Amino acid sequence: MPSPTRRPGDRLAMIRFKPEVRIGSFGPPIALVLDAAARWSLSTGVEVEINSINDSHAAHSPTSLHQLDLAVDLDTAGDRPDDLAALARYLAHWLPAPYQVIRESDHVHVEHDPTP
Ligand SMILES: [Zn+2]
Repeated sequence: MPSPTRRPGDRLAMIRFKPEVRIGSFGPPIALVLDAAARWSLSTGVEVEINSINDSHAAHSPTSLHQLDLAVDLDTAGDRPDDLAALARYLAHWLPAPYQVIRESDHVHVEHDPTP
């Protein structure tokens, strides 16, 4: 994955988290999604907001991978549809199987589903 060159003092886009975001077990499946999102943010200058990982159980189905710390919902600052589409394309390009990147109306859902 390409890594933009960073220098002290550079203004950086970054990832921010909604305060209600919870993580039960932080492991490689989530880390790789956040890493890819951070790289996209650095390369575009658009901040990425994490809306959900393992939280808001009522909003996710009982079989949701969110409850297993295997899914992330991401959004882009400013809510521009073009940005969200570009983020979804980037994640789909860089995250290998068994990741699935699903563009929802107002966020990108990424899940790591190891079941065949
Ligand atoms: Zn989701």
